[in-house]
Amino acid sequence: MTNALRDRFLRYVQIYTTSDPFSKTYPSTERQWDLLRLLRDELTAIGAADVVLTEHGYVMATIPATPRHEQAPVVAFLAHVDTAPDFSGEGVKPIVHANYDGHKIVLPDDANQVIDPANPMYADILTAVGKDLITASGTTLLGADDKAGIAIIMTAAEQLLRDASIVHGPIRICFTPDEEIGRGVDYLDINQLGASAAYTFDGGGVGEVSWETFSADGAVVEITGVSTHPGTANAYGMVNAVHLAGKLLGMLPREFAAPESTNGRVGFIHPTGIEGSTASTTVRFIIRDHDNDKLAAKGQMLRLVCDALQAGYPTAKVTCTITKQYRNMGYWLRDRPEIMDKLRAACADVGVASYDEPVRGGTDGSRLTERGLPTPNIFTGGHNAHGPLEWVTVQDMQKGVDVMVALAKRWGE
Ligand SMILES: [Zn+2]
Repeated sequence: MTNALRDRFLRYVQIYTTSDPFSKTYPSTERQWDLLRLLRDELTAIGAADVVLTEHGYVMATIPATPRHEQAPVVAFLAHVDTAPDFSGEGVKPIVHANYDGHKIVLPDDANQVIDPANPMYADILTAVGKDLITASGTTLLGADDKAGIAIIMTAAEQLLRDASIVHGPIRICFTPDEEIGRGVDYLDINQLGASAAYTFDGGGVGEVSWETFSADGAVVEITGVSTHPGTANAYGMVNAVHLAGKLLGMLPREFAAPESTNGRVGFIHPTGIEGSTASTTVRFIIRDHDNDKLAAKGQMLRLVCDALQAGYPTAKVTCTITKQYRNMGYWLRDRPEIMDKLRAACADVGVASYDEPVRGGTDGSRLTERGLPTPNIFTGGHNAHGPLEWVTVQDMQKGVDVMVALAKRWGE
């Protein structure tokens, strides 16, 4: 079983599936179809039912229930085919370090890319000692995010389809594009998926389970100044919007409310971009917190800073527009405790010590949960996502396979 899992993973990571945030198409890149079509064909080949690839690039399939367990709740498992545009995902050359012995790894295609267990930032690689470690070669990311999730789901699906002794209810499989650019479920029809609960397999070390994400808003502050000829600016009352943008940023409490100075459950106000001129300047922000009230308070703080700026410069115009992005899935999952209870029990069934890790970001599950399909996240064993030092082990991915099979049994009871 372990070798089939490894070979699947190695096959998937070599397919170039980087998504593109600037694209107007869906999926954002043609190349994602290559893996989506392959998965459709592989699901058909292993005997899954109802296999479809939709016009928007969702692969869906059914693992039919064991006879007399058709009435059990339908549970879905999801993973995404794209890799992050932050780093090249083209021409990935995975390297298997069989029975890794804990030595420093210098990636062969770029000697500056080093995974050194002596560096505290990378010391978690020592959990891979004695396992079959997989890295990239130095010039690309590996793509364990989220091809580890896909390999886990495909391997577990094959096991459930082949082994009639495993008793389970109806199971749905779904592979999605464009998760990394935040559009992963834009066109996903949850009625077509037809599940009452779902899980994403997307990142995290063995045992990590997440039923909370950030709640998220975006904010745009537009500052309109008074533009005059600089030679006569003093006489004609110039108000420079560029300076006002600087004052705005200076007034924000960076020490305790910026991503670079916060951790855990503390949220932030983060300026993501600024553009403009003397006449007008726009500053864009993302606002994040696990708690909706604290999120609202951060938005209010930004508004107050804008009001103060406006009061100081009455001839300028300062507007602040806050728009909702997504909400912490925990607000809904608290009302469906069986979804996490079954997951924790399934982990225990296969000897995995689970622990809750609130996500400092959003997942496809955040949006699915808000739309009515509660979807927490399960680990894949992947580490150092979105960069050249990404790694995963075959044995850790196998734990994901074991958890999915155990979870299928738990839902079939
Ligand atoms: Zn991911």
